[in-house]
Amino acid sequence: MLYNFNDLSKEEALSILNLPDADLPELLDIVFAVRKKHKGNMVGIQLLTNARSGDCSQNCAYCAQSNNSKSSIEKYKLISYGKLLADNYIVREKRLSRHCIGLSGIRFTDSEINEFANRVRELKNGTNTQICCSIGFLTSGQAKKLKEAGVNRINHNLNTSRNYYPNICTTHTYQGRIDNIKMLQGMGFEICCGGIIGLGEKKIDVVDMLFEIREINPQSVPINFLIPIKGTALGNTDTSLLSAEYCLKVLCLARLLTPKSDIRCAAGREVYLKGKEKEMFCAVDSIFASGYLTADGQDIEDTIKIIIEAGFQYYIEAD
Ligand code: SF4
Repeated sequence: MLYNFNDLSKEEALSILNLPDADLPELLDIVFAVRKKHKGNMVGIQLLTNARSGDCSQNCAYCAQSNNSKSSIEKYKLISYGKLLADNYIVREKRLSRHCIGLSGIRFTDSEINEFANRVRELKNGTNTQICCSIGFLTSGQAKKLKEAGVNRINHNLNTSRNYYPNICTTHTYQGRIDNIKMLQGMGFEICCGGIIGLGEKKIDVVDMLFEIREINPQSVPINFLIPIKGTALGNTDTSLLSAEYCLKVLCLARLLTPKSDIRCAAGREVYLKGKEKEMFCAVDSIFASGYLTADGQDIEDTIKIIIEAGFQYYIEAD
């Protein structure tokens, strides 16, 4: 493979997604060297709490919480402090790398942010637990409140390419997402920014999205592979494109374009990459345990087991 992997063009990036499957082992070897240089042998495990569920005003086509979803999911305004605390305790007790907290919705009132910030402050309580929130579009005043409360990182995904975005959401813009990320980055938050593969996009959309993410240079890049959820606009999507080989090529490309970032294989890992964990960890240094916002996942002990069996070490957070 005669690419300059430090400075891939879009054409070269696309050709990586189009590589014959027979060339995948060679690609994985190259990507593993990059992963090893920046992340060693470590895999971080994140735990995700869905702190506010359902009734979102937006129409993201993949999302069970969207305003046009007919999925039967549990809906609530703000999860009990007891549940947040219990999940936070698991993160600390198992010494996982991060507690991620997702809240459905795109805009929040100041009093909702204040209430949530108070909960974060209680969770942190002088500890070093790393907290990441997925929390829509914030005003700078609201973001400041969360920063003061101890939120370390904010997740705001691009999800797909700028061109394809109107096919998956029409209630807010791609540029709005980028502007929100830039504002948060300017305030000193670490950024988690990734996307979803399998929304009906073309391969060039995956390349375009990853180039936008490279521009942002986030600390973390979560790559989700669509799990069609009944009742959503994409509930009947054909996912035959998502072979293990294709998913691995996407993860490899993410590592090559953002080599220093945490590359996280998020939703879909247990479906599309089952049995391919050793190959996956050649590119990936971060995964979730215990499920996703509205989908189940692998429990923590089994997640630790697959990391060790694949010859990697799971990252233990320092006190
Ligand atoms: S992805 Fe977020 S913004 Fe979009 S519908 Fe779901 S909860 Fe709302």
